[in-house]
Amino acid sequence: MPSLTTEIARRRTFAIVSHPDAGKTTLTEKLLLFGGAIVLAGAVKGRKAARHATSDWMALERERGISVTSSVMQFPYGEAVVNLLDTPGHQDFSEDTYRTLTAVDSVLMVIDAAKGVEAQTVKLLEVCRMRNTPIITFVNKLDREGREPLELLDEIERILSISCAPVTWPLGMGQRFRGICRLADETARLMPQGRSERIQEERLLALRDPDLKAVLGDEYERTLQEIELVRGAAPVVDVGAYRGARQSPVFFGSALNNFGVRDLLDAFVAFAPAPLPRPTATRVVAPDEEAFSGFVFKIQANMDPQHRDRMAFVRICSGRYRRGMRLYHVREGREINAANALTFLANERSMADEAYAGDILGLPNHGTIRIGDTFTEGEPLRFTGVPNFAPELFRRVVLRDPLKSKALSRGLEQLTEEGATQLFRPLSGHEMILGALGALQFEVVTYRLRNEYGVEADFEPAPVVAVRWLEADADTLSDLHRRLAGHLAKDAGGALAYLAPSRSHLDLTAERFPKARFHAIREQL
Ligand code: GDP
Repeated sequence: MPSLTTEIARRRTFAIVSHPDAGKTTLTEKLLLFGGAIVLAGAVKGRKAARHATSDWMALERERGISVTSSVMQFPYGEAVVNLLDTPGHQDFSEDTYRTLTAVDSVLMVIDAAKGVEAQTVKLLEVCRMRNTPIITFVNKLDREGREPLELLDEIERILSISCAPVTWPLGMGQRFRGICRLADETARLMPQGRSERIQEERLLALRDPDLKAVLGDEYERTLQEIELVRGAAPVVDVGAYRGARQSPVFFGSALNNFGVRDLLDAFVAFAPAPLPRPTATRVVAPDEEAFSGFVFKIQANMDPQHRDRMAFVRICSGRYRRGMRLYHVREGREINAANALTFLANERSMADEAYAGDILGLPNHGTIRIGDTFTEGEPLRFTGVPNFAPELFRRVVLRDPLKSKALSRGLEQLTEEGATQLFRPLSGHEMILGALGALQFEVVTYRLRNEYGVEADFEPAPVVAVRWLEADADTLSDLHRRLAGHLAKDAGGALAYLAPSRSHLDLTAERFPKARFHAIREQL
């Protein structure tokens, strides 16, 4: 049996973050191509096209199903085993993305050279920063006219407050894009002409080689000066600073042309951290501890409407999974048989014989597993850090058939446990308020309530603009209960929350209760 430490040390578990259209899908595909996981490009793309083909909710469900198989892609690269965790492209499902970010050890940020740092990237990076997740940057689409590379680096540094260390530098741009230069040894790599779906031979030349001068023509002198300037002014890569999330190594290229991707992947496996220690409520768990432990970061419904099973995605934090082992479900206080757990080789789901810290395990789940749950070999650990983000959109649930109220409650509770939406029950009255970060989440809930629970429900506007989880000493709490009675609610996990009817109410309340803490993020219990 391979040694536990060796297996874990070669794991690299990451996700790609970007604004829609920056090139995440294309880059994913090219990474798989270089990883030898697919021979021809097009597989990932086809999936995306299928997603956009129709817009009815049946198709949405199917799309969710499709992404079950592609949520995690594992492929070997050199000595490394790479786990790439996919995140939903649509920003309405960003909650899913946020939680996936808790299961990775690093991220790859893709930026469109013409657009620079865009809104969705800023939001996702905030989540990374909360956790000090190391970031490698890929500036994409250099084959199109874009912004000046120096200006882009400046923008990344300014908006994302992280120092940038360029590893490569573009030679020209748009029509005149000829390749990249590795700054450390001044080696230029020329982009093969003509598009190909396959990996092509790339020509390497020294920066001062007259052949390169011939290729770059008029641009040569200017490029030389720029590279000199960059080498003098920009920091060199400092792996410690990168792993501490203070510096981001930056690469340039064109994912569509397979170009710049190999440098990126080589550096990624070299720099990116192996599985890191993870905090629990009681102690820090080291990845190479013998005993298995892991937590659930995502739950997804099965694509097959005949099978209502859900798949729980477990990030393994320590030890080794062996087929046939029993896992202790800490919150439920009992063991489950994990014989049919899945692992995710790129493009196929397969039964896991073994998996290691850093890998993702798929546990078929009949509704007892929740997001944030911990599995171990018996120790009552509880991993912390899987967040609930305060929803920004709110709806009041109106049931059409009063006889279905039990089914409604059960459905909403389960969908909440899966993270499809958040549920708040005001302390006074019998209302149910749903919260979401994207409007499509409500559509999914409507669809799934109808199809899986036989419940027709309407969602009406709710008089709520924000929610904050409350924490306070006993005196302040009773004061809050007295003065804010109509605005307090319990969330699905039983935590006390304040539903603010307006922004000014939120501000005033925070001022009136300086001893109370109003949290916009809550960890799952
Ligand atoms: P995602 O929304 O971030 O997954 O972006 P996609 O990978 O789907 O890319 C969005 C669009 O940009 C598609 O039309 C791609 O073909 C295109 N694209 C991606 N990478 C490049 C590139 O390097 N150069 C050019 N010109 N287009 C690209």
